[in-house]
Amino acid sequence: MTLEQPIEYQLPLIRQTEIHEKGRLTFGEGIRSLLRQDPDILFVGEIRDLETAQMSLRASMTGHPVYTTLHAGDSFAVVQRLEDLGLKREDFLSHLTWVVNQRLIRIRCHHCTPPASCSWCKGTGYYGRRPIAEILVMDEEVRSLFQNRLPLSQIRTHVEKRGFLSLSDQAQYLLKESLTTPDEIFLTLGEIMGEIH
Ligand SMILES: [Zn+2]
Repeated sequence: MTLEQPIEYQLPLIRQTEIHEKGRLTFGEGIRSLLRQDPDILFVGEIRDLETAQMSLRASMTGHPVYTTLHAGDSFAVVQRLEDLGLKREDFLSHLTWVVNQRLIRIRCHHCTPPASCSWCKGTGYYGRRPIAEILVMDEEVRSLFQNRLPLSQIRTHVEKRGFLSLSDQAQYLLKESLTTPDEIFLTLGEIMGEIH
């Protein structure tokens, strides 16, 4: 069962509900009514207030896998974001299993070099997109780093030693393989690339 605002794609075998915050159906209220129907898996379009955060946590605590999105600076900022919304770190950390930070990168058109009157890419130089995603696995070790409020830079160094690949690492791989362009990376990841390098 999903709660979305708006429903962008109709999916078979999935019960989708559209949120109307101006009416009475908020994300928080929506989760409350979905839980009465005992769903297998919940998708909550976005957590942006305390009520939704609390209801999502409650759903997770009662054994429901919950997928959601959050606006945060990067994967590591999600813990602080949930805390800023009003959840207690010690309450939600053990229920947060992983964080994915993702972008879509346009891929260079391989039908034309340089781009000029190409019918595949209509002269844009790009044909198709590819997702890149950094995945922060919240295992016991990483949770304890967050619980002890280590600086995010130290947590990042710790997970990088264990193989964490950042968006920046993956962007650099695409550049090295000439699959995309520096302009596209700057457009999509400008701030991130600036911060890290
Ligand atoms: Zn082309």
